[in-house]
Amino acid sequence: QIQRALRSLSVPLERLHIMKGHMVEDMCRGLSQQTHRQAKVQMLPTYICSTPNGTEQGNFLVVELCQNQVRTVLVTLYGDGNMSPSMVYKTFELPEGITHGTGEALFDFIAQCVSQFLAQTIQSDPSKSEERLPLGFVFPFTCQQTQLDKAELLSWSKGFSCNDVVGKDVVELLQSAINKQKMGANGTGQANGTTGNSWLPSWRRKSSEFTPGQLCQVDVVAVMNDTVGTMMTCSTEGRPCEVAMVADKGSNCCFMAEAYLVERADEASGRMCVNTEWGCFGDDGTLNDIITPYDECVDVESSNPGEKRFEKMVGTLYLGEIVRHALIGLTAEKAVFTGTDIGVLREKGAFTMQNILDIINNEEGTTEVKRILEALGLQPSERDCGRVQQICRAVVGRAATLHATGLAAILSYMCQTRDMETLMVNVGMDGELYKGYPRFQEILLSVSRLLSPECMATLLPSRDGSGRGAAMVTAVALRLAALRRDVNEVLAPLRLSRADLEKVQALMREEMERGLGKETHDTASVRMLPTYVCHTPDGTERGDFLALDLGGTNFRVLVVRVTEEGITMASEIYVIPVAIMQGTGEALFDHIIDCIIDFQMKQSLMAHMLPLGFTFSFPCQQLGLDKALLLTWTKGFSASGCVGQDVVQLLREAASRKQHSGMQVVALVNDTVGTMMACGYDDPKCEIGLIVGTGTNACYMEEMKNVGTVEGDQGRMCINMEWGAFGDNGCLDHIFTHFDQVVDQSTINPGKQRFEKLISGMYLGEIVRQILMVMTEKQLLFQGKLSSKLQTKNIFQTKFLSTIEVSNGLALRQIQAILNELEIDASFEDSVLLREVCQTVSLRAAQLCAAGLAAVVEKIRESRGLDQLSITIGVDGTLYKLHPCFSTNLQKTLKDLAPNCNVSFMLSEDGSGKGAALVAAVATRTDDAMEE
Ligand code: ADP
Ligand code: MG
Repeated sequence: QIQRALRSLSVPLERLHIMKGHMVEDMCRGLSQQTHRQAKVQMLPTYICSTPNGTEQGNFLVVELCQNQVRTVLVTLYGDGNMSPSMVYKTFELPEGITHGTGEALFDFIAQCVSQFLAQTIQSDPSKSEERLPLGFVFPFTCQQTQLDKAELLSWSKGFSCNDVVGKDVVELLQSAINKQKMGANGTGQANGTTGNSWLPSWRRKSSEFTPGQLCQVDVVAVMNDTVGTMMTCSTEGRPCEVAMVADKGSNCCFMAEAYLVERADEASGRMCVNTEWGCFGDDGTLNDIITPYDECVDVESSNPGEKRFEKMVGTLYLGEIVRHALIGLTAEKAVFTGTDIGVLREKGAFTMQNILDIINNEEGTTEVKRILEALGLQPSERDCGRVQQICRAVVGRAATLHATGLAAILSYMCQTRDMETLMVNVGMDGELYKGYPRFQEILLSVSRLLSPECMATLLPSRDGSGRGAAMVTAVALRLAALRRDVNEVLAPLRLSRADLEKVQALMREEMERGLGKETHDTASVRMLPTYVCHTPDGTERGDFLALDLGGTNFRVLVVRVTEEGITMASEIYVIPVAIMQGTGEALFDHIIDCIIDFQMKQSLMAHMLPLGFTFSFPCQQLGLDKALLLTWTKGFSASGCVGQDVVQLLREAASRKQHSGMQVVALVNDTVGTMMACGYDDPKCEIGLIVGTGTNACYMEEMKNVGTVEGDQGRMCINMEWGAFGDNGCLDHIFTHFDQVVDQSTINPGKQRFEKLISGMYLGEIVRQILMVMTEKQLLFQGKLSSKLQTKNIFQTKFLSTIEVSNGLALRQIQAILNELEIDASFEDSVLLREVCQTVSLRAAQLCAAGLAAVVEKIRESRGLDQLSITIGVDGTLYKLHPCFSTNLQKTLKDLAPNCNVSFMLSEDGSGKGAALVAAVATRTDDAMEE
């Protein structure tokens, strides 16, 4: 029988694996907004999002409500890595009956304790009396927390039943009770306690000149569970502790979870401590097959049968009871205490945790065991002593094993959700079982290692209970509040209000009008260039077309076949040697013609004369669809004899030099126009083109009657806005920040393309870098250490923003990789702040782009006299396409700024190829139509 009993108390490894799996499942359920009600492991958010970093300093009060005491602590931190905080504390016994009385009486008593403690402490050290003292409240009951300083009591436990408190915010109750007291003056309360003044460092013990009547303002800043306090206590001396376990009367565990997984809290970035409240694990039956008859007896006799099944197998409040029931059962089976009276064992609580610890911690023989059992009123034989010891070991060993299984579940979950292959983590430990049972550590480590081999835990003993940790939480909260203030101050100029955006929209509208006006055109910062493209595709275009793309990353020649079935394309990339780029114009255009001839031969297209569309991405003044004067070369081109010439003419002349008659240049096209046309083929409502890549620009179909710079009032014409230069006349000066000025001054064209420099891929990374440098100087980031790499211009690429802003927490590892690349040693908090900086910069870019578009769509709507405009924008550019939030933010803001326009966005595929061919196709179509 004894062997059977021992077997039933030992859980095989395979079964522990299954249990670990159930625990992880229940944890996920508890974190999810949808399923947390069904979860037994409640996973309560604590709103504690950071562990101490050692810079915390100042005085912090802590008050802790314990089973039958109120503990008050004053902790002084010195910003020295929390190596040697000084602590003064005092304990007050709870008066008889107060745990069953009214909430007001209970909280008044707690406030009196605080008041009295403060009066005495200030007497010893008057310097404390002038301060606003922040207070951390350790409240070890199950609460629904909604902020760091807001926690509604869900249910009492541990013998408390002040029923009018349930459902109320305990912080508010404590704060108003405290406000009734005079803090710092000689305590008015009746509480009596024993001081621990010997904790005062000698320099603070000197006699004082305390003036009665000096008052402190005490602010309750944080409320937390004792487990969380333990985690924070252990998180000192430069080793963050991200898990804590309290194996005591009850059992609980908390850990730092990725904040985005804590769905019930709004925090989306960083991490948040989650209080697992794992005591209720198994209440849905998942532990039934390992629950023994002894556990059943304990449960039935408890005040809450059916609940807290896990806790009842592992909490020290219950272990003695399990042993007691095991002994009763085994006596009935005549396996122990045969022939003797075990009446004393029938009484609940007869066998205590202390008895168990005394029995198992006794290795030498059984004399001591015998003495203990006899003291309980039993008459054990030698054999009984051995068997009782075995049972005690089995019960406590099982408790340790089950704790280890829970820990393994948490570690695996952390490792997995942080997307790490291995996890090294410190685990803060406290509680009677941990402290009293020497093998607990060993079992915890070895079993959790077997169950989660990918994780490596280091156990840290909590020396000062939860008090010091609560002070840390309070200190961290204040440090973060100060950091937040400073960060907001730096980022505020980059955050645009709705009014700011409306102003930008109105200014853009003004500049558009000026750019279109015959008289005002020359002074407008938005040049509004006519493109002589007067129609978007209507789907009836047919034929084969050539396209050239010069000025992008590659020089390409394409053939575009437009048929009833759709569009097919073939293309070839050609190299333009630097000698040709920088030689004569004749050589350049001859080379281009050679490439075209080569392409047409390869594609067997020599037999026909094909219309050609030419995407030419250099600034041009266009005089007709096929007539455009080059204003200046850029991007490394400098071929002589071209500037001021008609580019189309240069190409035609080269063709005739080469006697190539297989093509006819029909149109010269800007890339925004190509984008609009390419999308326009699939969606006739596409009448706007937008580019957000290296630079930014837009075009749209304007009514001819509004285009003052071109003769004629009939129909429409596509206008190439060249909006990148918006603001070059000073009209946007009010939104430029210090960072924008610095970035602008470091470019090859200071003062030019000011709008573009707020929005496009060439600049966003550099703006972020400037902000990071300022924040580091202000000690808000990277511990104030500026790596020399970060001081290198353009080292922070815009594509980093995309990686960093991916909202999924898994990307944090990639953030670290980027920062390593920049030789920056960053903490987790740094990564989170870095993400915020990137988000701020990219959000502003998207919003400004939206304000520009709002001006465009509203102008179109008005000139067409519509209440509601339905329109599509064709978009190209890597920033728009690859950044995780840019397009969403852009669309959201546009909807807000132009509510009467229903705008769709369409990504363009190869606008400079397909679009150019379509411009040629539409031109031939309309020519044909005119001839008919
Ligand atoms: P272009 O505008 O010259 O035609 P692209 O549309 O490809 O070229 O845009 C290039 C720009 O996109 C570069 O300035 C670069 O900073 C930016 N970029 C490249 N990759 C990414 C990315 N993953 N996320 C955001 N921006 C990017
Ligand atoms: Mg492009």
